[in-house]
Amino acid sequence: MKIVLQHLTKKFPARGPVRGRKNREDVIAVNDFDFEIPDGKLIGLLGPSGCGKSTALNLICGLLKPTEGKIFFGEDDVTGLPPENRGVGMVFQNYALYPHLTVEKNIQFPLENLKGADKLSKEEMSKRVLEAAKLVQIDHLLERKPNELSGGQQQRVAIARALVKLPRVLLLDEPLSNLDARLRLQTREEIRRIQQETQITTIFVTHDQDEAMSISDMIVVMKDGIVQQIGKPQNVYDDPVNLFVAKFLGTPPINVFSGEVKKEQLYIGSEAVLSTPGVSDQPVHVGIRPEGFILKEDGPLSCDLVRLEVMGRDVSIVSTHEQSQNVTIRSIIDADEGKSLPTGKVHFGLKPAKVFLFCTDTEERIRF
Ligand code: ADP
Ligand code: MG
Repeated sequence: MKIVLQHLTKKFPARGPVRGRKNREDVIAVNDFDFEIPDGKLIGLLGPSGCGKSTALNLICGLLKPTEGKIFFGEDDVTGLPPENRGVGMVFQNYALYPHLTVEKNIQFPLENLKGADKLSKEEMSKRVLEAAKLVQIDHLLERKPNELSGGQQQRVAIARALVKLPRVLLLDEPLSNLDARLRLQTREEIRRIQQETQITTIFVTHDQDEAMSISDMIVVMKDGIVQQIGKPQNVYDDPVNLFVAKFLGTPPINVFSGEVKKEQLYIGSEAVLSTPGVSDQPVHVGIRPEGFILKEDGPLSCDLVRLEVMGRDVSIVSTHEQSQNVTIRSIIDADEGKSLPTGKVHFGLKPAKVFLFCTDTEERIRF
């Protein structure tokens, strides 16, 4: 089921003037969302804490009413429908399981309130519960209570409960945040597998770019309620529209320098490091991905070596430069390339496709 958002906006009114303080401003938590989520895909909704991710999800599931705009599931306008009539499955960060019910009863719970034509017999319910439990591989745990399960198992119960009504849309709000690092990796693969098996259109909310990049067909990067960029993870990484997106994606993060374009040459400090045809003279932020550096004795960008970190296949060179906006610069090169490393100064050439320029006023990308 495709999801269409039309000018979707949610404004939270300021809570009246507080004595002794200035009037607080309205918060526009979701600002004019206007895009389509294709049928059967997994979408990562990504942005820092407080940028409006949960608000967007709650609008889509119907727990919140929009200030403006519309939501369609397929051709159906669901904007006015209550959550229970939208056919959505929702999974929250804190699982929200009933502690006094068994796993089986927890999963079955959403089926018990079905009315009229949707009402299911006991046998039908048991069959559905077992199918959902099998899908998330907890069918051997049906008799247990939530406190007899690990965090990862509890999260699977929450996912099974969201799937048991055969939703048209699955919404996951930071579902892995309460898991430890190893389980997080494993469970995100599981979510990907379940989504591919069921082909349910899924929106996965996270502040973790690595998580979103690794399992999403498409990511939506947002900041302060506003969508910054939408695309395949790799395309957004390779072609960010502004400095915020460039900095938000990638581990290790992008290196940012203060630079200047003069006569179609990019300068970092006094060194001309790259030719930038078509760019007019101006100061710029220069973003260089860690893999964008080439070790080269006569390379134009010279940095002061801090240390080397050898990590199997790669060598990570940590260095500094006067014009760097980060405390240290991190460049990643092949292990063989790093064998005869200089001490003191390191000289780099740059891969043009890994270097991005941004306007110092608007922080928008300047292409060359
Ligand atoms: P995220 O999930 O990305 O961390 P949220 O959607 O929870 O962000 O919040 C977005 C913004 O809206 C924040 O500034 C938050 O303080 C504000 N907000 C969220 N819910 C409410 C509410 N019920 N009333 C007022 N402000 C809210
Ligand atoms: Mg949230």
